[in-house]
Amino acid sequence: MTALLEVEDLHVEFRTRDGVARVLNGVGYHVDAGETLAVLGESGSGKSVTAQAVMGILDTPPAFVTRGSVRFHGEELLKASEERRREVRAEGIAMIFQDALSALNPVFTVGFQIEEQLRLRRGLSRAEARARAIELLDLVRIPHAKQRVREYPHQFSGGMRQRAMIAMSLALDPEVLIADEPTTALDVTVQAQIMDLLAEIQRERRMGLILITHDLGVVAEVADRIVVMYAGRIVEHADALSLFRSPGHPYTAALMRSLPRVDLKGTALETIKGLPPSLLRIPSGCPFHPRCPRAEDVCSRVVPGAVGLGLGRTSACHFAEEVVRG
Ligand code: SF4
Ligand code: MG
Repeated sequence: MTALLEVEDLHVEFRTRDGVARVLNGVGYHVDAGETLAVLGESGSGKSVTAQAVMGILDTPPAFVTRGSVRFHGEELLKASEERRREVRAEGIAMIFQDALSALNPVFTVGFQIEEQLRLRRGLSRAEARARAIELLDLVRIPHAKQRVREYPHQFSGGMRQRAMIAMSLALDPEVLIADEPTTALDVTVQAQIMDLLAEIQRERRMGLILITHDLGVVAEVADRIVVMYAGRIVEHADALSLFRSPGHPYTAALMRSLPRVDLKGTALETIKGLPPSLLRIPSGCPFHPRCPRAEDVCSRVVPGAVGLGLGRTSACHFAEEVVRG
Protein backbone atom coordinates (compact mmCIF):
# COMPACT_ATOMS: atom_id res chain seq x y z
CA MET A 1 0.00 0.00 0.00
CA THR A 2 1.20 3.51 -0.77
CA ALA A 3 1.91 5.58 2.30
CA LEU A 4 0.30 9.00 2.59
CA LEU A 5 3.70 10.67 2.73
CA GLU A 6 6.88 8.80 1.98
CA VAL A 7 10.48 10.01 2.05
CA GLU A 8 13.06 7.64 0.58
CA ASP A 9 16.85 7.65 0.50
CA LEU A 10 17.02 11.45 0.67
CA HIS A 11 20.44 13.02 0.23
CA VAL A 12 20.94 16.76 0.66
CA GLU A 13 24.14 18.80 0.42
CA PHE A 14 24.83 22.35 1.47
CA ARG A 15 27.53 23.78 -0.78
CA THR A 16 29.26 26.29 1.46
CA ARG A 17 32.47 28.31 1.16
CA ASP A 18 34.14 25.87 3.53
CA GLY A 19 33.17 22.87 1.47
CA VAL A 20 30.28 20.49 0.96
CA ALA A 21 28.25 19.67 4.06
CA ARG A 22 26.47 16.35 3.65
CA VAL A 23 23.39 17.29 5.61
CA LEU A 24 21.19 14.30 4.75
CA ASN A 25 22.68 10.94 3.92
CA GLY A 26 19.90 8.58 2.90
CA VAL A 27 16.97 9.55 5.09
CA GLY A 28 13.68 7.69 4.73
CA TYR A 29 10.45 7.65 6.67
CA HIS A 30 6.73 7.55 6.09
CA VAL A 31 3.55 8.63 7.77
CA ASP A 32 -0.02 7.51 7.23
CA ALA A 33 -3.38 9.06 7.97
CA GLY A 34 -4.20 9.03 11.65
CA GLU A 35 -0.61 8.40 12.68
CA THR A 36 1.95 10.42 14.65
CA LEU A 37 5.59 10.08 13.73
CA ALA A 38 8.17 11.73 15.97
CA VAL A 39 11.48 12.74 14.43
CA LEU A 40 14.02 13.02 17.19
CA GLY A 41 17.55 14.38 17.14
CA GLU A 42 19.94 17.06 18.33
CA SER A 43 20.16 20.30 16.40
CA GLY A 44 22.04 19.76 13.15
CA SER A 45 20.93 16.13 12.85
CA GLY A 46 18.90 16.96 9.73
CA LYS A 47 15.37 16.70 11.09
CA SER A 48 14.32 20.20 9.99
CA VAL A 49 16.14 19.93 6.66
CA THR A 50 14.20 16.75 5.88
CA ALA A 51 10.95 18.58 6.62
CA GLN A 52 12.01 21.52 4.47
CA ALA A 53 12.79 19.16 1.59
CA VAL A 54 9.33 17.62 2.00
CA MET A 55 7.77 21.09 1.90
CA GLY A 56 9.91 22.23 -1.03
CA ILE A 57 11.23 25.19 0.95
CA LEU A 58 14.85 24.15 1.09
CA ASP A 59 16.73 27.27 0.18
CA THR A 60 19.29 28.41 2.74
CA PRO A 61 22.25 28.08 2.31
CA PRO A 62 22.63 26.75 -1.25
CA ALA A 63 21.01 23.37 -0.70
CA PHE A 64 20.84 20.58 -3.23
CA VAL A 65 18.84 17.40 -3.15
CA THR A 66 21.30 15.03 -4.79
CA ARG A 67 19.29 11.85 -4.53
CA GLY A 68 16.06 10.46 -3.16
CA SER A 69 12.33 10.74 -3.34
CA VAL A 70 9.45 12.50 -1.57
CA ARG A 71 6.05 11.10 -2.45
CA PHE A 72 2.64 12.36 -1.41
CA HIS A 73 -0.15 9.90 -2.30
CA GLY A 74 2.48 8.29 -4.54
CA GLU A 75 3.15 11.52 -6.47
CA GLU A 76 6.84 12.47 -6.70
CA LEU A 77 7.13 15.96 -5.28
CA LEU A 78 10.83 16.48 -5.97
CA LYS A 79 10.00 16.55 -9.69
CA ALA A 80 6.79 18.61 -9.36
CA SER A 81 6.47 22.17 -10.70
CA GLU A 82 6.74 25.09 -8.29
CA GLU A 83 3.02 25.71 -8.83
CA ARG A 84 2.15 22.17 -7.83
CA ARG A 85 4.45 22.44 -4.80
CA ARG A 86 2.60 25.57 -3.71
CA GLU A 87 -0.70 23.75 -4.05
CA VAL A 88 0.52 20.81 -1.96
CA ARG A 89 1.92 23.24 0.61
CA ALA A 90 -1.39 25.04 0.84
CA GLU A 91 -3.73 22.08 0.95
CA GLY A 92 -1.89 18.80 1.40
CA ILE A 93 1.00 19.19 3.80
CA ALA A 94 1.06 22.10 6.23
CA MET A 95 3.89 23.04 8.56
CA ILE A 96 4.10 24.93 11.80
CA PHE A 97 7.30 26.33 13.21
CA GLN A 98 8.93 26.84 16.57
CA ASP A 99 8.79 30.59 16.39
CA ALA A 100 5.18 31.60 15.83
CA LEU A 101 6.02 35.28 16.09
CA SER A 102 8.23 35.25 13.03
CA ALA A 103 5.92 32.89 11.14
CA LEU A 104 2.91 35.17 11.61
CA ASN A 105 2.86 38.50 9.80
CA PRO A 106 3.00 41.32 12.40
CA VAL A 107 1.15 43.88 10.27
CA PHE A 108 -2.02 41.84 9.76
CA THR A 109 -4.54 40.65 12.31
CA VAL A 110 -4.53 36.96 13.15
CA GLY A 111 -8.00 36.67 11.63
CA PHE A 112 -6.92 38.26 8.37
CA GLN A 113 -4.06 35.77 7.98
CA ILE A 114 -6.43 32.83 8.34
CA GLU A 115 -9.14 34.40 6.21
CA GLU A 116 -6.83 35.30 3.35
CA GLN A 117 -6.12 31.63 2.61
CA LEU A 118 -9.81 30.75 2.75
CA ARG A 119 -10.73 33.53 0.36
CA LEU A 120 -7.91 32.85 -2.08
CA ARG A 121 -8.00 29.06 -2.09
CA ARG A 122 -11.61 28.29 -1.20
CA GLY A 123 -13.33 31.33 -2.69
CA LEU A 124 -15.11 32.18 0.57
CA SER A 125 -16.64 35.63 1.00
CA ARG A 126 -15.29 37.97 3.66
CA ALA A 127 -18.10 37.09 6.03
CA GLU A 128 -17.78 33.34 5.46
CA ALA A 129 -14.03 33.48 5.94
CA ARG A 130 -14.42 35.46 9.18
CA ALA A 131 -16.94 32.94 10.52
CA ARG A 132 -14.59 30.07 9.65
CA ALA A 133 -11.60 31.85 11.24
CA ILE A 134 -13.55 32.21 14.49
CA GLU A 135 -14.44 28.50 14.37
CA LEU A 136 -10.78 27.65 13.90
CA LEU A 137 -9.67 29.84 16.82
CA ASP A 138 -12.37 28.15 18.92
CA LEU A 139 -11.10 24.77 17.81
CA VAL A 140 -7.60 25.54 19.11
CA ARG A 141 -9.21 26.89 22.31
CA ILE A 142 -8.35 30.53 22.04
CA PRO A 143 -10.79 32.17 24.45
CA HIS A 144 -13.00 35.00 23.18
CA ALA A 145 -12.31 34.04 19.58
CA LYS A 146 -14.83 36.58 18.28
CA GLN A 147 -12.78 39.44 19.72
CA ARG A 148 -9.34 37.96 19.34
CA VAL A 149 -9.78 37.31 15.63
CA ARG A 150 -9.33 41.08 15.24
CA GLU A 151 -6.10 41.29 17.21
CA TYR A 152 -2.51 41.35 15.99
CA PRO A 153 0.06 38.61 16.70
CA HIS A 154 1.92 40.77 19.25
CA GLN A 155 -1.25 40.97 21.34
CA PHE A 156 -1.14 37.20 21.83
CA SER A 157 0.99 35.37 24.43
CA GLY A 158 3.52 32.81 23.18
CA GLY A 159 1.17 29.90 23.77
CA MET A 160 -1.78 31.69 22.15
CA ARG A 161 0.35 32.57 19.12
CA GLN A 162 1.30 28.95 18.73
CA ARG A 163 -2.42 28.07 18.88
CA ALA A 164 -3.15 30.73 16.27
CA MET A 165 -0.49 29.26 14.01
CA ILE A 166 -2.01 25.81 14.42
CA ALA A 167 -5.42 27.29 13.51
CA MET A 168 -3.88 28.88 10.43
CA SER A 169 -2.25 25.63 9.37
CA LEU A 170 -5.58 23.79 9.68
CA ALA A 171 -7.58 26.29 7.62
CA LEU A 172 -7.33 24.27 4.41
CA ASP A 173 -7.67 20.83 6.03
CA PRO A 174 -4.18 19.44 5.36
CA GLU A 175 -3.76 15.68 5.36
CA VAL A 176 -0.30 15.94 6.88
CA LEU A 177 0.85 18.43 9.49
CA ILE A 178 4.55 18.85 10.19
CA ALA A 179 5.30 20.54 13.50
CA ASP A 180 8.95 21.62 13.85
CA GLU A 181 9.76 22.01 17.55
CA PRO A 182 6.32 23.57 18.09
CA THR A 183 6.67 23.92 21.85
CA THR A 184 10.36 24.62 22.38
CA ALA A 185 9.92 28.34 23.04
CA LEU A 186 7.14 27.78 25.60
CA ASP A 187 7.13 27.01 29.29
CA VAL A 188 6.52 23.45 30.42
CA THR A 189 2.82 23.75 31.27
CA VAL A 190 1.99 25.46 28.00
CA GLN A 191 4.13 22.90 26.15
CA ALA A 192 1.98 20.10 27.51
CA GLN A 193 -1.23 21.92 26.60
CA ILE A 194 -0.11 22.53 23.02
CA MET A 195 1.05 18.93 22.66
CA ASP A 196 -2.32 17.66 23.93
CA LEU A 197 -4.11 19.97 21.54
CA LEU A 198 -2.08 18.75 18.57
CA ALA A 199 -2.65 15.13 19.54
CA GLU A 200 -6.39 15.69 19.87
CA ILE A 201 -6.72 17.48 16.54
CA GLN A 202 -4.61 14.82 14.87
CA ARG A 203 -6.94 12.08 16.17
CA GLU A 204 -10.15 13.89 15.31
CA ARG A 205 -9.07 14.77 11.78
CA ARG A 206 -7.11 11.58 11.18
CA MET A 207 -4.18 13.64 9.95
CA GLY A 208 -0.70 12.32 9.58
CA LEU A 209 1.34 14.27 12.13
CA ILE A 210 5.12 14.60 12.02
CA LEU A 211 6.51 15.98 15.27
CA ILE A 212 10.08 17.20 15.07
CA THR A 213 11.82 17.57 18.39
CA HIS A 214 15.09 17.34 20.26
CA ASP A 215 13.19 16.34 23.39
CA LEU A 216 12.19 12.70 23.73
CA GLY A 217 10.10 13.60 26.79
CA VAL A 218 7.80 15.84 24.77
CA VAL A 219 6.74 13.12 22.34
CA ALA A 220 6.70 10.14 24.68
CA GLU A 221 2.95 10.11 25.10
CA VAL A 222 1.81 11.07 21.63
CA ALA A 223 4.08 9.33 19.14
CA ASP A 224 3.08 6.08 17.44
CA ARG A 225 6.47 5.65 15.82
CA ILE A 226 9.80 7.35 16.36
CA VAL A 227 12.76 7.89 14.07
CA VAL A 228 15.99 8.97 15.68
CA MET A 229 18.38 11.02 13.53
CA TYR A 230 22.09 11.56 13.92
CA ALA A 231 24.45 13.37 11.52
CA GLY A 232 21.95 13.34 8.67
CA ARG A 233 21.03 9.68 9.01
CA ILE A 234 18.30 7.70 10.66
CA VAL A 235 19.97 5.60 13.33
CA GLU A 236 16.85 4.00 14.77
CA HIS A 237 13.25 3.55 13.64
CA ALA A 238 10.79 1.88 15.97
CA ASP A 239 7.28 1.95 17.36
CA ALA A 240 7.25 4.18 20.41
CA LEU A 241 6.49 1.43 22.92
CA SER A 242 9.34 -0.84 21.85
CA LEU A 243 11.76 2.06 21.69
CA PHE A 244 10.99 3.15 25.23
CA ARG A 245 11.05 -0.39 26.53
CA SER A 246 14.40 -1.23 24.96
CA PRO A 247 16.25 1.22 22.73
CA GLY A 248 17.96 -0.52 19.82
CA HIS A 249 20.74 2.01 19.23
CA PRO A 250 23.38 3.33 21.67
CA TYR A 251 22.49 6.90 20.70
CA THR A 252 18.81 6.39 21.54
CA ALA A 253 19.84 4.74 24.80
CA ALA A 254 22.00 7.76 25.63
CA LEU A 255 19.14 10.15 24.84
CA MET A 256 16.91 8.18 27.18
CA ARG A 257 19.45 8.29 30.00
CA SER A 258 19.53 12.08 29.65
CA LEU A 259 15.76 12.33 30.23
CA PRO A 260 14.53 13.47 33.63
CA ARG A 261 12.57 10.63 35.27
CA VAL A 262 10.00 10.99 38.01
CA ASP A 263 10.89 7.61 39.49
CA LEU A 264 14.56 8.55 39.83
CA LYS A 265 14.18 11.97 41.35
CA GLY A 266 17.43 13.37 42.66
CA THR A 267 19.74 11.16 40.58
CA ALA A 268 22.06 13.08 38.28
CA LEU A 269 21.14 12.98 34.62
CA GLU A 270 23.69 11.65 32.22
CA THR A 271 24.60 13.85 29.32
CA ILE A 272 26.02 12.53 26.08
CA LYS A 273 29.72 13.27 25.99
CA GLY A 274 31.12 15.29 23.10
CA LEU A 275 29.32 17.21 20.39
CA PRO A 276 27.51 16.19 17.22
CA PRO A 277 29.99 16.09 14.32
CA SER A 278 30.51 18.85 11.78
CA LEU A 279 28.67 17.84 8.63
CA LEU A 280 31.68 19.04 6.65
CA ARG A 281 33.70 16.25 8.26
CA ILE A 282 31.46 13.36 9.21
CA PRO A 283 33.47 10.71 11.10
CA SER A 284 34.40 7.56 9.20
CA GLY A 285 32.45 4.37 9.79
CA CYS A 286 29.62 4.90 12.23
CA PRO A 287 29.24 8.69 12.61
CA PHE A 288 28.42 8.21 16.32
CA HIS A 289 31.62 6.30 17.10
CA PRO A 290 33.59 9.19 18.70
CA ARG A 291 30.82 9.56 21.29
CA CYS A 292 29.62 5.99 21.60
CA PRO A 293 30.25 4.17 24.89
CA ARG A 294 30.07 0.79 23.09
CA ALA A 295 32.31 1.58 20.12
CA GLU A 296 34.77 -1.08 18.97
CA ASP A 297 37.42 -1.06 16.24
CA VAL A 298 35.02 -1.97 13.48
CA CYS A 299 32.89 1.09 14.26
CA SER A 300 35.41 3.63 12.97
CA ARG A 301 36.01 1.61 9.79
CA VAL A 302 32.66 0.27 8.62
CA VAL A 303 29.43 2.22 8.16
CA PRO A 304 26.70 0.17 9.86
CA GLY A 305 23.68 -0.66 7.71
CA ALA A 306 20.14 -0.82 9.07
CA VAL A 307 19.70 -4.02 11.08
CA GLY A 308 16.14 -5.36 11.32
CA LEU A 309 14.98 -5.99 14.89
CA GLY A 310 11.51 -7.33 14.14
CA LEU A 311 8.13 -5.54 14.09
CA GLY A 312 9.50 -3.16 11.47
CA ARG A 313 12.19 -1.85 13.82
CA THR A 314 15.61 -1.01 12.49
CA SER A 315 18.85 0.18 14.04
CA ALA A 316 21.99 1.32 12.24
CA CYS A 317 24.47 -0.21 14.67
CA HIS A 318 26.88 -3.12 14.27
CA PHE A 319 25.73 -4.42 17.63
CA ALA A 320 22.01 -3.62 17.34
CA GLU A 321 20.87 -7.05 18.45
CA GLU A 322 22.92 -6.90 21.65
CA VAL A 323 21.94 -3.32 22.35
CA VAL A 324 18.22 -4.06 22.11
CA ARG A 325 18.59 -6.99 24.53
CA GLY A 326 20.00 -4.45 27.02
FE1 SF4 B 1 28.31 2.63 18.72
FE2 SF4 B 1 29.58 1.09 16.98
FE3 SF4 B 1 26.95 0.91 17.21
FE4 SF4 B 1 28.06 3.07 16.11
S1 SF4 B 1 28.11 0.98 15.29
S2 SF4 B 1 26.44 3.03 17.58
S3 SF4 B 1 29.91 3.27 17.33
S4 SF4 B 1 28.47 0.40 18.76
MG1 MG C 1 15.59 22.58 13.62
